[in-house]
Amino acid sequence: MLTTVDRKKSPPSGQIDTSLLKKWFFQNRRDLPWRSNPSPYQVWISEIMLQQTRVVAAIPYYKQWMQQFPDIETLAKAPTEVVIKAWEGLGYYSRARNIHRTSIEVMEKFTGQMPSNRKDLESLPGIGPYTAGAILNFAFHKREIAIDGNIERVIARHFQIVNQIKSKEAKKQVETYMELALSDNESWVVLEALIELGALICDKDPKCSECPLQDNCLSNLHGNPKDFPIKPKRDKIIALKREVAVVFYNGKVLVRKNSSGIMADLYEFPYLEKKEGINPLLLFEKDLNIKLEYKQDLSQVIHHFTKYKVKLLPSIYEASEVDSGFLDKFYSINEIHQYPFSSGHRKVLSEVIEYLEREGCSNSGSLV
Ligand code: SF4
Repeated sequence: MLTTVDRKKSPPSGQIDTSLLKKWFFQNRRDLPWRSNPSPYQVWISEIMLQQTRVVAAIPYYKQWMQQFPDIETLAKAPTEVVIKAWEGLGYYSRARNIHRTSIEVMEKFTGQMPSNRKDLESLPGIGPYTAGAILNFAFHKREIAIDGNIERVIARHFQIVNQIKSKEAKKQVETYMELALSDNESWVVLEALIELGALICDKDPKCSECPLQDNCLSNLHGNPKDFPIKPKRDKIIALKREVAVVFYNGKVLVRKNSSGIMADLYEFPYLEKKEGINPLLLFEKDLNIKLEYKQDLSQVIHHFTKYKVKLLPSIYEASEVDSGFLDKFYSINEIHQYPFSSGHRKVLSEVIEYLEREGCSNSGSLV
């Protein structure tokens, strides 16, 4: 149960009461591993992870990351593939590549220390205005604006911003209200408290009766908090169907490493867009230039990325003959486990392992 706070001495309607907000925050904030006296490195990594996933899901990733890469120097020296592997499951792998590139730049240009000014921070790959502002506030205790989705939601509701929240006008309004709120002499506490309020109280289902800002919040006073923020129209989801070939040869499986695009450096099974009415075996034989024998289908896998919903249709094939130059594309399951996979193909890999267990690894040879 969240603690309630004394709201008697509120400032005039319309302003964010930062003293009530901070009091609520100190009584209710969550104990998170990146929170107590964080270094700029810790703030940076946690903020990038939180752009990907919810707090609860980010905690184990963050702990594991800090064990594996306790400082910027260790991260900068690690091979990119190892960094991508540590990010596996979080998605948007360009963020992991940017983190790695930034660590190298920090070592080369800033003697291993994260910069403490916005211009230098924003010059680094993957660090935008919000992340720079978060690092400056939470690690350096500097008064710098930083606006994430939680803050947008709280401000849009508190002040009933009627412009579409991603519009230029709305951004300007949110910034103006934030500047006012951050004039508090503990701006970094106000910033974190607003983010926490957005996550715990003013979320999708706002709990106004528990909120320290309820007396001045226009949406609460009008009884329509769910009408705000005004959201932009969503991109249409595009559905894709892909045939996936799990090809065995001498107990090993064929996987490919992507060299470019958003899945660069990630491993996947060979796949092709589904063509209705055409046997995928023929398509794969042509694409891979290998003679194949169909064995069986595996359960289909659904995964989402950006605006796509992809249905993966994996099938097991046995290759009858493989050119010697192609053999190094086949791996044992133990080897495959060490490589970073895209999340959809990681699910396919789980299906493959279940298949091998069902078969008692009878055709797996040196697979495990
Ligand atoms: S009173 Fe309700 S709508 Fe207003 S900030 Fe609090 S939770 Fe959000």
